[in-house]
Amino acid sequence: MVSSWIAGRADDGAAGRHGDVFDPATGEVARRVAFASAADVDRAVQAARGAFAEWGSTSLARRTEVMFRFRELMAARSGDLAAIITSEHGKTLEDAAGEVQRGLEVVEFACGIAHLMKGEGSEQISTRVDSTSYRQPLGVVAGITPFNFPAMVPMWMFPLALACGNAFLLKPSEKDPSAAVLMAELLAEAGLPEGAFSVVHGDKEAVDALLTHPEVDAVSFVGSTPIARYIYETATASGKRAQALGGAKNHAMVLPDADIDVAADAIASAAFGSAGQRCMAISAVVSVGEETADALAAAVADRARALKVGPGSQEGVEMGPLVTPEARDRVVAYIEKAGAGGAEVVVDGREADLPEGGFFVGPTVVDRVEPEMEVYRDEVFGPLLVMLRAGSFDEGLDLVNANPYGNGAAIFTADGGAAREFRNRVQAGMIGVNVPIPVPMAYYSFGGWKDSLFGDLHVHGREGVLFYTRGKVVTERWPRRAHGTDYGFPTQS
Ligand code: NAD
Repeated sequence: MVSSWIAGRADDGAAGRHGDVFDPATGEVARRVAFASAADVDRAVQAARGAFAEWGSTSLARRTEVMFRFRELMAARSGDLAAIITSEHGKTLEDAAGEVQRGLEVVEFACGIAHLMKGEGSEQISTRVDSTSYRQPLGVVAGITPFNFPAMVPMWMFPLALACGNAFLLKPSEKDPSAAVLMAELLAEAGLPEGAFSVVHGDKEAVDALLTHPEVDAVSFVGSTPIARYIYETATASGKRAQALGGAKNHAMVLPDADIDVAADAIASAAFGSAGQRCMAISAVVSVGEETADALAAAVADRARALKVGPGSQEGVEMGPLVTPEARDRVVAYIEKAGAGGAEVVVDGREADLPEGGFFVGPTVVDRVEPEMEVYRDEVFGPLLVMLRAGSFDEGLDLVNANPYGNGAAIFTADGGAAREFRNRVQAGMIGVNVPIPVPMAYYSFGGWKDSLFGDLHVHGREGVLFYTRGKVVTERWPRRAHGTDYGFPTQS
């Protein structure tokens, strides 16, 4: 049984409800996860509130020290963490190690908290009057995270939240819950006070308890768009600060002057890596011109056919299974719908050479897709790439911008002017120029536009610090004698 982690120890709670955790490579239920009840969540919140009283006023030097130790412990255990991720998510070990590395970069960024939380100061804003600004922690903050990056997405949130002085409650995905528990153990070993970081496993009951708890000050969410919308509306309606990152349909636009092999390598990697279960996966291609479209479809199809599918823990495997039977069935249903709707299924993942058992579907390439088809409109979240055709740059860009999602978008071209036009006009938060998965580094902020993000601030980087703190401006005067009353509005003098 995978237990929650509350007030510094493993805790199965009282609810008695649990979920099944699969090994996606075999299709077997590998373990069970105990679901936290609203009462369990309340215990975690109370522990966090108690811990915040101490942690929130701990020196910056001490908070940095804890983060630094956590970074060292995580680096030492990164192989174990990657193995846990592969066993519950299904992605390859190499991919899991990459996710741990990208998460660790946020921990490293958080080690610079002393610099990041610096305010500003001005002397003599008026005669013998000075002004200084500070950033202070919010209190208790919650993070609700998706299955597809069980270590990295939590690390987009908690290192900065904790370094800023908050207590943090993590509700990870119930589909791959174990990575969160290992990270909780390592935070405790690094010297974080009991209760400053808890993990509550579960489903809607645990999430709703966090969203409406009066002692929770802020909520960060990453997941699908319908749930992101619900999280943002519910959390803000109960007076909390919220940021909710949603789903995606990331487009790559390919211009006639692009090198087709370079573009095909990049697009196939970004579409099928992690079985397409990345929020920044390329899932739609818009080729400009028929010649480009035909050449690109053929080149991507070649790569899809050559890709080795198998258990993520096996050497040489390039793509693992989907996370659950439902996720696999969903991809299969979209392949069927696409074919029935008149699109051309160039490579059919159902016909790939797949291992027995497990939730496998091969990489799938669907060409001649039209914007009104469901396979284009919906986020499929699997190894299914749709290819659309546009007659010109403007037509292609209009198509990209008409999509309700706006997470990432990429362009492949040798024309600097066209690339500039694209980055200036495209309606998305993270843009790649000849880069298929433009995930910002830890010291920039990650977030999309439109239905890919509800809220104002993106995660990690400078915006992460702003999200987990609030500002205070102090105006100071030390008078030597009485000045007399003044009923006018204060101005400089
Ligand atoms: P999901 O929305 O199903 O679940 C995310 C979290 O919400 C989980 O912790 C889950 O337990 C909880 N949840 C699910 N249903 C709920 C409900 N009805 N009420 C309250 N909480 C609920 O997402 P997922 O399937 O775990 O992850 C895949 C999705 O996440 C994709 O849509 C992907 O695009 C998105 N994602 C987005 C980003 C980004 O940066 N924008 C990053 C990673 C994943």
